[in-house]
Amino acid sequence: MRATLTERQELLRQTAREFALKELEPRAADVDSNEEFPRRQFDGLAAIGLLGLTMPEADGGAGGGYGELAVVIEELAAACGSTSTVFITHVSLGAATIARFGHAEQRARWVPALSRGDKIAAFALSEPGSGSDALALSTTASLDGDDYVINGSKVFITNGEVAGVFVVFVNSDRSKGHRGINAVVVERGAAGFTVSHMTGKMGMRGSATAELSFQDCRVPVANRLSDEGRGYSVALSILSSSRVSIAAQCVGLARGAYEAAVKYANQREAFGKHLADHQAIQFMLADMATEIDAARLLTHRAASLVDNGRPHVAESAMAKLFASEVANRAAHRAVQIHGGSGYFRPSKVERIYRDQRVTEIYEGTSEIQRLIIARSILEDRS
Ligand SMILES: Cc1cc2nc3c(=O)[nH]c(=O)nc-3n(C[C@H](O)[C@H](O)[C@H](O)COP(=O)(O)OP(=O)(O)OC[C@H]3O[C@@H](n4cnc5c(N)ncnc54)[C@H](O)[C@@H]3O)c2cc1C
Repeated sequence: MRATLTERQELLRQTAREFALKELEPRAADVDSNEEFPRRQFDGLAAIGLLGLTMPEADGGAGGGYGELAVVIEELAAACGSTSTVFITHVSLGAATIARFGHAEQRARWVPALSRGDKIAAFALSEPGSGSDALALSTTASLDGDDYVINGSKVFITNGEVAGVFVVFVNSDRSKGHRGINAVVVERGAAGFTVSHMTGKMGMRGSATAELSFQDCRVPVANRLSDEGRGYSVALSILSSSRVSIAAQCVGLARGAYEAAVKYANQREAFGKHLADHQAIQFMLADMATEIDAARLLTHRAASLVDNGRPHVAESAMAKLFASEVANRAAHRAVQIHGGSGYFRPSKVERIYRDQRVTEIYEGTSEIQRLIIARSILEDRS
């Protein structure tokens, strides 16, 4: 697989790997147990120029495509799941929406600051009453002169506790169905906008999840991204490309679990030989290695389609679906290979076992990915 990386991707991989081993891995257990936002790690990612990935250089970003992004995310996720979630939400959800759908003035206002890490981005689509069925969102934005007046709430918003820039999906006219939805940028501190920290997650515990509340919150219409009524297609487009990032995260999580399992199997002895010398353990490792490579190949295929401007909705859903289930199986097997020591904290495989689980839920559950894939098969047939 490594042979298929471009020179730039291989360089980025090495940079991200060195950073992950030095800055992420040693702090990952604390981030998890303290539910602590990885601020120092985020600042470190800014310092090595990774926060601007996929943002055009002309707008103050670092350039590169989803192929480069996937390589970096895999390395981050193999070391610290929480930091990879923070990074993905900042780059491939929040900042990407502004970079791809903002007009020149909006891009100039936010993209350089987001690329430098001066501000953190969040992406607010889910609500207490709507998750998979995002079209049912009920946060309203009524026009009043040059402002939208926003009322409603959002839940499960990654980075919400620390973000300065929120891409918020609102409904400006419920009678218009998906054509009533808009994406607007709301900045921290806007009057009528409050953020409440949500604690107690199973995994990805450093990812600063928040509930957002809007009470007569006024935001200039000039903060709307794309044309009036285009918010739903903005969300679909961004989620479709960002699923490549989640797939890469899953490859990283699976690899982290697999590498820990290989190491442990080579150290631990049972019945007079290393675990690695028992064929049942070898078979688990063989399955893990094979599935991880397959997930990575699907991820890079989807990334390449995104980067070449080709249709990728089904392919990114396939990559996310398969990679998240591979990460689930890899984490399960890695805990099994560790026996009792894999069940107690602080154990890396125990953490990955919990961190991985949400990859089958966020940015579209596995059921929703299957619906997307099935729809594309049936559309092709007709
Ligand atoms: C840690 C975490 C971080 C998150 N970060 C963000 C974020 O930054 N921004 C954001 O906007 N959202 C975020 N989310 C929300 C996430 O995207 C939603 O939880 C997810 O889309 C599922 O929505 P739901 O929880 O409302 O579940 P529901 O939509 O209520 O689904 C419940 C179950 O029903 C199934 N289901 C629903 N519809 C169908 C159907 N048509 N056919 C078959 N099965 C179906 C689902 O697959 C699931 O198994 C986050 C969630 C978590 C847990």
